[in-house]
Formats: sequence, structure tokens, C-alpha cells
Amino acid sequence: MITLDSPITELLGIGETNSKNLNKLGIKAVSDLLFYFPYKHLDFSVFSAIKDIRAEQVITVRGTIKTIATRFSFRSRTSLCEAIISDDTGSLKVMWFNQPYIKNYLKAGDEVLLSGKATFYKHLQLSNPIYEKVSDDTTHTGRIVPVYHLTENVYNKTIRTLIKKHLHLADSVVDDIPKPVLTSCKLLPLNQAIRQIHFPESEEALQRAKLRISFNDGFIQQLAVQKRKHELASSIAPNIKPDVELVKKFLASLPFTLTAGQKQAAWQIMQDMEGPVPMNRLLEGDVGSGKTLVAILSALAAMKQNFQVTLLAPTEILAKQHYQTITKLLYDNKTFRTLNKKHSALVTNNYRIIDGEVVGKKEVSSEISKGKIHFAIGTHALLYGQSFKNLGLIIIDEQHRFGVEQRATLLKQQEKAERVPHLLSMTATPIPRTLALALYDDLQTSILKQVPSGRKPIITKVVTEDGRAKIYEFIKKEIRAGRQAFIITPRVEDSETSTTKSVKAEFKRLSEDIFPKFKLGLLYGKMKGSEKEKTMEAFNNKQLDILVATSVIEIGIDVPNATAMIIEGAQNFGLAQLHQLRGRVGRGPQQSYCFLFSDSSDEGTLARLNNFASSNDGFKLAEMDLEQRGFGDLFGQTQTGFQYKFSRFMSLKALQLAKQGAKLLIDDDPTLKKYPVLKKKAEFLAENIHFE
Ligand code: ADP
Ligand code: MG
Repeated sequence: MITLDSPITELLGIGETNSKNLNKLGIKAVSDLLFYFPYKHLDFSVFSAIKDIRAEQVITVRGTIKTIATRFSFRSRTSLCEAIISDDTGSLKVMWFNQPYIKNYLKAGDEVLLSGKATFYKHLQLSNPIYEKVSDDTTHTGRIVPVYHLTENVYNKTIRTLIKKHLHLADSVVDDIPKPVLTSCKLLPLNQAIRQIHFPESEEALQRAKLRISFNDGFIQQLAVQKRKHELASSIAPNIKPDVELVKKFLASLPFTLTAGQKQAAWQIMQDMEGPVPMNRLLEGDVGSGKTLVAILSALAAMKQNFQVTLLAPTEILAKQHYQTITKLLYDNKTFRTLNKKHSALVTNNYRIIDGEVVGKKEVSSEISKGKIHFAIGTHALLYGQSFKNLGLIIIDEQHRFGVEQRATLLKQQEKAERVPHLLSMTATPIPRTLALALYDDLQTSILKQVPSGRKPIITKVVTEDGRAKIYEFIKKEIRAGRQAFIITPRVEDSETSTTKSVKAEFKRLSEDIFPKFKLGLLYGKMKGSEKEKTMEAFNNKQLDILVATSVIEIGIDVPNATAMIIEGAQNFGLAQLHQLRGRVGRGPQQSYCFLFSDSSDEGTLARLNNFASSNDGFKLAEMDLEQRGFGDLFGQTQTGFQYKFSRFMSLKALQLAKQGAKLLIDDDPTLKKYPVLKKKAEFLAENIHFE
């Protein structure tokens, strides 16, 4: 008997090859099959009478095959199957290219359903439609039809047929969500949702199924959040009193004054750190909004009271930059010598430095654990096996970039401590407010709305192909004037390898054909760390005029002299991500420019890009992204769903419901002792989920 746990090899018609191919999609057991959700649906549920069909319409017809014949061309090794079908209102020509097996399946006289796009070539016709014989319960046509992600030699028809045949097993899927939650959130039972997500009875049923499926995803994440919120509320934090005189003295030593946002954020942080429970605050601010300074102010307060502070950055370059900034502002600052007896360290895979001196791995680790380092800056390399004597504040830069694994290490670090350190995370990714509220209920947020004055807004333009030469000329002009430029190559369909290929090809073309007289550098994700570093250094030091890169340059580059950016294939990026990329220019006093190339002629796409061009407000753009493209696309594929990978059906509504449900449960049972399975899942998620 076939059950949910049966391996697919036990299914009729699944041989070794088939099963290997399905394995590639992660389908090993029957339950994987049922949980292999479609990524979209096609609505083939509305039938057209043949006489009503117009060119360019996607239609489903029901008719009888009058004639059908297949011809082979041996010369071109192709086959063409031609048929005429008719209904009460007329007849229609149908053609299938290179599907010779059709002649074994469809015969004259058969009643069939055909779904596809009608075209006009001499007369109206239907090319390569999906076909199926008429029956009471169709699978591929005549209904809302699921479309799955495929792999070599696995077809939609195969997956649909397999799933449909075993869909009744959905009834034995165990639903982890407790009854009271289901009732309170008015959700579809899971087994029905599984049935409907594959073969929906109606558009409405499909929406309810999507809501339910994404609810399940969100629920575990929200349980983890609510549980953590509860834990934090009952732990004790280091009590850090702000030292107003010290802050004033430090600020007086700076060449500028704080923006209103910086003032407010610093104030909020100081208040949090003085409170009895650990701070868990997210500082959001566009690139260049001055988050580092807010972090330093917070660190200052903690260090003054002899607490240790650690600042973690996602890359070595960023960590090094932070170390340099901090050294400059706190230690080498002639007018501010308060911290002279405090020590700072940089710890990454390649650097171990205490107060500017290179030291050994063991040494730095032992100094930190003895509490002799007051400010430890580094990448996650700093964390492993590291203990602190009296950690007061943890600062994480670009928090959404951080592996959750590392974050889990951090949390453990916190839990071990008698007093749970305060946590300040920082991000340049503007998270729409509605989303932040739904997603991070355990988090307070501070927002830096404005960028320090003296900067000119970046001029952004969407450029068509015929404007290309002119833009290249413009870039040359900027470089001759002493500036530098970025050229971002498009992201290629889900694949790092082809993205690498395309950036290399573009680099060659640009170096040889377009900018032979200039110095170009190349940067992409798969490069060795040391090479990346070398290239970025060279760009930083103006040894390179143009940096050709994939979107890896999103982080870690601060070159105020760079004033122009070209983004190729701009339609492939989310608005929020485009905004991040654009933020690499416009960091100096000169006017900066961003040019978007797109090979799309789709009106919606162009409107989206034009919207982007007309706004410099990251939050607004992120909200727009959320509205238009939903969750999955919000921050590009590298950042899908922040630290959690949600199904593509995730919606704000599902998350809000999940939050409501999780609250209900945690309020009643904060440690989830009544729900061991959920508890395990939530804990597993909090510790193990990897970043995409
Ligand atoms: P981000 O928010 O992207 O991390 P940074 O903290 O790196 O931004 O700040 C960007 C630049 O702006 C730095 O060179 C910093 O010294 C400078 N800066 C920070 N605050 C101010 C301010 N209030 N006025 C002028 N410049 C500032
Ligand atoms: Mg920063």
C-alpha cells in the first residue's frame, strides 16, 4: 500500500531514471510530492467557442478531432503534427512541432480539450497547445492548472499526473497547528489546502489554499519570534547608564553635527540600554545615513562603564573599515582621549590586530575572554568558540546579511551570560514598516530618514538601447574629469555560474571595445576572497577607473569619488536592491548618476523602473516592491525573506495571521511545553535556518 512515507520508486511507472530526476527536485517520498507546490497556476477553466477565438488570446477549446496527421522532415530532423478540430461554431487548425508521440495518443474522432495561445499566420491557428482527452476530471486543461518548477526530463504533465493520483493521501498529512489557532485564524484545514494548491476548484479556493500554506511557514517563524520576545522580557540586562558629558565631549570632537535621526536613534538606544531587559533594536538607515556613528555612540556608553562591546560585520572589508573608523574616532582622536586605556581588536580570518599591532589567534581570543579588549570588531570568525568576560553590547552591521547560524551562536553567547547583552542590529535595507511589524514583533526599530546634508540626490535615468553609446561617452567624460564608475552586469536566471560567465564576457567587451584606454577591474561573487579584496582596494585607491561587477558590490565599497553607475538588465532586480546598488554612488560632493538599461519592452516593467528613477526614498521603494512583486522578490534572490526562506505564496496577510496565531499560543504556554513538536520546530528554525 502506498503511504506518505513510501519512496517514489514504489509508484507505478517510476523507474530509476525518473526517480533520480525527481530526486533532483527534492522529491523522494510521496509526501515530498504532495508538498512540491506549484509556483504558479494557469487559468484554463474558461472555454471559448471556436468562432469567438481571436489571435493572441490564451484559450481553452473543447472539440472533436476531424483530421490528424504527422509529417517528418528527415532533412531538418523535425516533425509536424497537424490537426483540424471543430465544435458547433466552427473549426480550427492545430499544430504541434516535434511532439511525434501525439499521433499515438490522439486520433480522428477523439473529443479533446486544448489550451494554448491562438496566433494568426495566414489564418487563425493554435500552436503547441496542451492537449487532453475529454473526461469528467481533467488534469492539464479545462481547469486552473498548476505549473511546477522542472528539471531535465521532468515535465509538468508528469508531475501533475503523479500528484493528482496520490492527492487523496493529503488526508493523512498531520496538521501541527493546534485547533484553537486554526479556529481563531479561520483557516482552511491543511489537507484541503494541499489539494487546492495543486488542483484548485476556483480562484477563491486557490487563494485560501495559498493563505493556509504560507500561514504554516510563517507560523513557525512567528512562534520563534514570540517565544524569544517572551524570553527577552524575562531576562536581565547589563544596566548601562548614559554619560551625557562624555557623549557631548565626543560629539564636540567631530567635524560635523548629528542629524536629527541620529540624535533620536542614539537617544532611543541609550534609554534601552538603561532599562532592565535586554535591548533588541534594529537601526535602519539608507547607505550613507551615518549608522556607524550611532553605533559608536552606543558603544561609548557601554565601554565607559567597563562593559565589552563587539561589532560584527558580514565581510572582512566592512569589518576592517569599521575598525579603522573606530580607531580614528575613538582612539587617535586628539581632542577626545577618554578611552586611552581601553583596547580594541580586529578579528577576521585574515586579520588579528590589537591596538594596531598584529597578534596571534590565541592571544586575541584570550585577551577578549579576559575582558581586556573593550571593543572587539570582526566578522563571524570572531565568534567561534569565543567567550567574553562582561559583554554589554553586541552590534551587528547589515544584520539581514548575517548567517542565521552565526546569529544563533550569538544568541547562545547571550543566553550563557548571567546578564543578556543588549543587541543593536543595523541594516541599510529599508524594510517596509508593515512588514517589519509583522515579521519582527520582538524588535524595536529606529530609522535614520535623512542622509547627512551636503549630498546631492543621485540623478537616475532609464536608458534604451539607442542611448547606449551616449552613456558610454558620458562615463568617459566623468573619468577624464577624475571620477570613477561602476558597471553592474545583470543577474542571470538563478545561476551563479552563468552570472559569472556573463560578467566575464561583459568585462572583456568593455575593456576591449568600449573603454580600451581606461583601467577596468572585475568583481564577482565566486572570486577568491583575497582577489576580491585586491580589486576593491585598487578601486578604493583610484588605480581603477571602472569596476565591472555583479551585485556583490552591494556591500563593502565606499568610494566617494565614484559618480556614475550603469546597471544592466535592471528589470531583474527588485527596487529595493536597485536602490542598494545605486547607493554606491552619490557619496561625495559631486553630482552622481545612475543609468538603468533594460532589454524588456514590457510596459509594467518600464513603469516600475521609471518609478525607481523618480524616487530616492528607500522606504517608499521597498513598500512599492512589496505591493507590486510580493515577498519573494522584495530584496532580490540573495535576501529572500530576510533570514527566513518563505514560500513564494507568502503574503503580508498570512504573516499577520501567523503572528496572531503564534501570540495566542505563546500567551497561553510561553515555553510551548504542551506542544513539543512545535517547540522543536521553532527552536530548530531559530538555530539552523540558513540564509539564502
Ligand atoms: P552607513 O549608514 O551607510 O553605515 P556611515 O556610518 O558609513 O553610513 O556614514 C557615512 C559617512 O557619513 C561617513 O563618512 C560618516 O563619517 C559620515 N557622517 C556620519 N554622520 C554624519 C553627519 N551627521 N554629518 C555629516 N557626515 C556624517
Ligand atoms: Mg555601514
